[in-house]
Amino acid sequence: MSKQYDTGKHKWTHGTVVEWVYGRTPSRWLLGPCPRCGMVTSNYGGKYSCHDDYCPNSASQFACPPEPTPDWWNTNINVQLDWNMWCAFLDGFVNLQESEAAFGDTPRDAVAALRKLDQSASTAIQKEAK
Ligand SMILES: [Zn+2]
Repeated sequence: MSKQYDTGKHKWTHGTVVEWVYGRTPSRWLLGPCPRCGMVTSNYGGKYSCHDDYCPNSASQFACPPEPTPDWWNTNINVQLDWNMWCAFLDGFVNLQESEAAFGDTPRDAVAALRKLDQSASTAIQKEAK
């Protein structure tokens, strides 16, 4: 089953065909949240582009930096915008008292903080990433 994302701003499913479809075969699919801003992304030339026009990873920017696909996409890690900070947490999250969560200025920072906090997060990811 495909991963469902809910960043607090947007909800989508990994692998959904993007509405703009050229010709007969779909050319773009939705991917995980942008590591920089948490916006929806889609595949673009073997990498990914962000759907936020102002993000450095946006396809509409001239020098879209090539970035590898984040290894936490399509795993048990989730990100959500919580007020003005990004929060990373694992599937099965109950609340901040009972479940582990970590914060950062960007989704990437929050995920890195969660991995420092919980070594088992990485184990779970490797298991699920197969
Ligand atoms: Zn972005």
